[in-house]
This record gives sequence, structure tokens and C-alpha cells, in this order.
Amino acid sequence: MLVDRDKAMVLPTSTELSPASPVRLRADESAVLLEVAQAAGSTLDLHEVLERVAEKTARLTGADRCSLWLLDSTHDLLLPAAIYGIDPSFAARWKRKILPIKDERLSQEAITTGQPVIVLDAATDPRTDKKAVDFFGDKSILVVPLASKGRVIGTLFLNHISRPYWYSSQEIAIIQAIASQAAVAIENAQLYEESRRSRHELLGSFRRIGDALAAGLDLADTLRLVVELATEMLRATVGGLTLRPSDGALGTTQWVPSDAPEHDASVRPLLAELADKVVDRGEPFYVADLHEHVAGSNGHGTNESLRTYAGVPLYLRGEIIGTLGVFHALPKRFSPAEIDLLASFGAQAAIAIDNARLFARLQHQVQELSAAAQRNADLYTSLQLEKKRLDVIFQHSTDAIYMADRDGRIVAFNPAAEMLTGWSTPEVLGRECADAFPGEPNNPPSLSDATRRVLIQGTTQDEVVEATIVNRSGNRRHVAASYAYVAARNGEGPFALAVVRDISRQKEVERLKSDFMSMVSHELRTPLAVIKGYAATLLNPALHLDAERQTRFLRGINDASDRLTRLIDQLLSASRFESGRFKLNLQIVDLADAVHKVVGGMRTSVGSHALRCDVPPDGVIARVDRDQIEQVLTNLITNAIKYSPEGGEVHVELRVATGPAPTDDPVGRGNESRKVALLSVRDHGIGIPPNQLRFVFDKFYRGDAPIVKRVPGTGLGLFICKSIVEAHDGRIWVESQPGQGSTFYVSLPQEG
Ligand code: ADP
Repeated sequence: MLVDRDKAMVLPTSTELSPASPVRLRADESAVLLEVAQAAGSTLDLHEVLERVAEKTARLTGADRCSLWLLDSTHDLLLPAAIYGIDPSFAARWKRKILPIKDERLSQEAITTGQPVIVLDAATDPRTDKKAVDFFGDKSILVVPLASKGRVIGTLFLNHISRPYWYSSQEIAIIQAIASQAAVAIENAQLYEESRRSRHELLGSFRRIGDALAAGLDLADTLRLVVELATEMLRATVGGLTLRPSDGALGTTQWVPSDAPEHDASVRPLLAELADKVVDRGEPFYVADLHEHVAGSNGHGTNESLRTYAGVPLYLRGEIIGTLGVFHALPKRFSPAEIDLLASFGAQAAIAIDNARLFARLQHQVQELSAAAQRNADLYTSLQLEKKRLDVIFQHSTDAIYMADRDGRIVAFNPAAEMLTGWSTPEVLGRECADAFPGEPNNPPSLSDATRRVLIQGTTQDEVVEATIVNRSGNRRHVAASYAYVAARNGEGPFALAVVRDISRQKEVERLKSDFMSMVSHELRTPLAVIKGYAATLLNPALHLDAERQTRFLRGINDASDRLTRLIDQLLSASRFESGRFKLNLQIVDLADAVHKVVGGMRTSVGSHALRCDVPPDGVIARVDRDQIEQVLTNLITNAIKYSPEGGEVHVELRVATGPAPTDDPVGRGNESRKVALLSVRDHGIGIPPNQLRFVFDKFYRGDAPIVKRVPGTGLGLFICKSIVEAHDGRIWVESQPGQGSTFYVSLPQEG
């Protein structure tokens, strides 16, 4: 029910109805208003303003209860704001009772009409909340809208409990004035609160940016945070950030909210255009209504949902690095103060962005560094491996390796060097090179000279130094040494590193080869010259040779041919044994027969020597290649004769012994289980020096005694013997005393 001033005036006077009529209201309108204004204006705290207005109004009007309700921003809800006239403990509960406006008909009416609403009888009036009326015992109620500058922000209730009170129209006018006075004070307090809150929020935002700075967020996170905070701070609909690509590698635009792609698609060109303007101006740029702005520009068009724009340049060290812009769906939304806020926030944000860029670069560098560190670690591991490999090579090399310091003193010596020299590592470390590798006197070069030369020249030696050294036991060894110069490093060095190979055997083979060549040419030439001489003489028609001389010459040719044949046979046999093309033709043979045959055949050519032969009367049966065994015997008897220049007896013996023939116990004493045929050829000739004993069966080996050099020979006879005997699973060995003679033994497995 609408009650206007006129209607109020026809009501009964309040004096008649209400003994508690508010005297002061009648007294002086302006004094009352001043009092409310003073009470409300004495603080900017919204809560206090509300409480004071409620109290003051209740006291001035004489109402039993005064309450204030505020509309929420949606204008759908009524928020209980302050109450006076009830127990304070109950007030707190009351304040929690938020009402949908449609359920509070009195307020709804006051707000919609902008006029006071009078309830004369709360108990019967259909607009009242009966529960509340019952609870409080209300008799009459007056509701006035709280309006400021034409905008309703809530309602003010005056309730009378003890008795109904009817206000006069003058009183209602004063109460309306009080309400609008209160509304102004409330709005002021609200504004103040809001600005305080936004200051608080701004501080919070700045702190978050500060935290981001300290946390070293990555660039994308920082950009998003900046736009998020700016949007939140200005309660904008959407925000965007553009970055001028300074080093090419950085992002250009960041949007919030990122889950609103329609903004992204449609606003991006608009933002770019506005950002350009911000950069051109170099200061904040505000567009109160984009519809008007875009209509007047040659811009990219408009977006229906965005109306207000505020953008600020992001300055860093006097340079604009980008822009930060926010949009609002409604026009004219951002105040100059807010744009100032955005600008100072932008300054802070620019630092954060710079920091994030720096951080990104640092991170990149750190990554590169850690990659480099990883590479170093890999290198270290491979170096370790390499070192291990080198160590294995050093330890297991068959070549001797040593390293000498700048004074030519040995600092490393491997096991092969120990073998070669006969000195142990602890014995040679710190000693001069010449101590470990003494050369032959007057037989340069020496290894110690070569070592010094490398250290003096400071270069790696290309050529290999061949030298003779004398080892600890006094034996000469031929060596080939190659040298590397190891430059000083980390305070160590320089060093000379040498790899020394024992080439004695190779030298020996070379010597044997050249000896062989001269032997072969000599051995071929001698009989050939004889043959040629005799043949030429026989063919000379001028010489009338008698029959006896002719026969002698022909015999000479015959002997020389035999010698040639023997030589060629020996060469062929040796090469057959070497190549493995040798096959035995095994037969059951009485070795006694074979011995008789050979000895008998040779008796004619023994000259001054006596040839004695002892064989068991029953013979000795063996499974052998008879021709080959005869060859062995022939070679041994030939040698016995050749190397007994003084003549003397050559004793050939055949007997049966027991056991296999191990090297150190040729006759196999102690093993009675197996019988062998044992053949021996004993002479009383020059004998063999002990150090040559192990070489006499080698191919091409010939002794170095002058007598050996004088007699013809190939160095193949004993090699062939050994090859044949071993092919029969037998053994051959020699016992000898220089100057007294030698005995060669052959043991062969005996059949049966
Ligand atoms: P060659 O007799 O042609 O030199 P051999 O292989 O038959 O070759 O013998 C090798 C070397 O063994 C001889 O050069 C000689 O120094 C030594 N030798 C062999 N038999 C005897 C022996 N009965 N007495 C002394 N030295 C011998």
C-alpha cells in the first residue's frame, strides 16, 4: 500500500496515538539532520556508519527498533546491515539473515517506488512477515528507501512495538531526509572501503608480482600472472599483454582469461591496434567507449562484448618493452585513479618480465653449462677408460715400455721391460736409462743416448733406433726402440716415452737367411765347378786322357752330382716338412736291417774314421717309414764324420729301452710300461758348446766354430731329422761335451 505525504497527513496525529512521540523531530529539522550527518560522518568505517545511523535514527524518531538493509550488487538480495533496539547478542544472528528482495515485500515496495511505506497494523497488514511480527511484537512499521543521487542502495526500517505510531507527513519528510543523509554517508564509507580494498588488493598484487620476481618464474608464467593481476585489480572482463620482441626469442602476447578463446580470436587485432597507440603515445591510453572510438577510427572493427579500454606502456630503463591493456564489457568503467594504478602496476610488471627474461636466459645458460658439465663428465669417463686401456696396454704389452724424465731417469717401466732387461721396476725407478739398458761398449747407438736426444730436441723421433743391449744375465739382445716426446703439463714433465722391441730373433732369422743364401750359392757352385771342370777336360780333344784318368774324372763328376742331389733333396725335404706336405709311408720294419744297410753303405766313404755298429741280434721291430729313418741315420752319421776332423770311431748303436721319451728323461726311466727303439750315434769330434745345444735342430742353424764354417753344410740336416722323428711320435736329442764328442739319440715307439 502506497502511503504518500498527503495521505499521511490525514492520519490521526501522532500525539494522539503515540505517547512516545519523538519530540525532537518536531523541534528542529535542520538540527536533527546535522546530528545524523555528524554521527555518520564522524567515521569512514562502513560498519560504524551503519551502526551510528541506526542508533541515531531510532533515538531521534523514538522508534523501538531501527534497522538498515543494503542491496547487494545484483539488486536481488537484501543484506542486513545494522540494527538498533534489540539485544546485541541477537543482532549478530540477525545480520546473517540475508533475504531475497522478493521475499521482503516492504523493502521491495519502498525500493521500487522510491517512497516510504507505512504499516499501521503490522499484525494484519498482508505485506508483513508474520513470523517476524510475532517474534518482535511489532505494532506499526515505517520503511523508507535509502537513496543517494537518485540511486537506491537499501532500506531503513523504523518499528514500534509498545504501541502503534503514526507519523505525520512532516515527520516522514524528515525521516526521508535522514535516510538520504544516511545513504550519502553509507555510500561514502562504501567508496572509502572499496578504495581501501583496492589499495589492499593492489598491495596484494604487487606482493604477488614481487613474489614472482623473487621466485624467478619462467617468462610465460610471469606474463600470465601480470595479466591476471591487472585484470583482477581493475575488475576488468579481459586483459592482454603485448611484448615487443627485443631479442627475437620471446613471446608476444598473453591473454587472460586464457579459457576464453573467443576473446583471443576477436580482440587480438583490436588489442594490437590499441597497443600501437599506447606505444605511440608513450603514456596510458583510455577509451571510455570502444564503440565510439572504433566507429571514428579505421580500426579492425569492434567487439560487442568489450566497451572500455585502458592500456599502459611497460617501461623498462626508459624503453617501452610492451603494453598492458584491460577491457571491460561496459562503457566508462575505469577511473583515472584505476588507470594510474594500472600504470604503476605496469612499471612493477615490466621489472618482473625483465627478470623472467633474464631468468630464462640464465636458465638457458645453466642448461648449456650443465650440458657442458655432462660432456666433461663423459669426457672424463672416456679419459678414465682410455687411461685404463693405456694401463692395460702398458702392463700387458709384449714390447718393453719405459718413460724417462728430463734428467734421463726412469719413471715408468713395464713388465715386458723387466723381462727384457732382467731388472725389476723398483730396481730401476729413478736410475739412469743406461743402468737399465746398458749398451755394448764401443757399439753405438745406445738407448740412453737416444733418450737424451729426444729430451733435448723436444720432438718425437720418427726413425726407429736399433741397438744392442746387454741384459742383467749378460746376454746381448738386439732391440728396436721408437721414441715419443711428452711435453710438460700441469707442472710435470717433459718425458721421453720409449717402446722397445726385442728383435734378437728377427735379427737371427735375418742372419740365418743371409747365411743360407751364401751357403746355397756356395754349396751349388762348388760341385757345379767340379762337374764343369771335369767335363770340359774330358771333352777337350787336344787332351788324350788315359782310361784311368778318364775314370777318375768321371767319378769326380759322379760324386759332385751326388752332392748336388743331396743338397737339392735336403732343400726339398725341408720345404715339404715346412709346408706340411710330408706323408709317412709306415711299414713294419726291422730297424737292425735298416741300420746295417746305412752303415754298410757308408763304410766306403768314412775315410780315416772307424765305423762301429752294435744292434741286437734279434733285431728291433718298429712301425716306421724306412726310407725316412734311413735318412735320419745317414744325416747323423754324416755329421759325426764331418765334425770329427781328427778321425776316430763313430759308434752306431740300436737297442730297446723302456718308456716314452720325455724331454728331460729321454729314455723314460721310471716308466717301464712302454718300450722304445733307441738309436744312438756317438762321435769323438769337436762337440757342441752348451749354449748352442738348443739351436742345432733349428732350420738353417749352423755352428759358428771355424771348423763348421769350413765343412760344407746347409744347416738343414738336423732340422730334417727332427721333423722325421717327431712325425713318428719319437724324440731326438743330443748330449755333447765340446772337444770330446757328441751323442745323438733317436727314440721311436717300438711295435709289439
Ligand atoms: P750342417 O751340418 O749342414 O751344418 P746340420 O743341421 O746337420 O747342418 O747341423 C747343424 C749344426 O749342428 C752344425 O752346423 C754343427 O754346428 C752342429 N753339429 C751337428 N752335428 C754335430 C756333431 N756330430 N758334432 C758337432 N757339431 C755338430
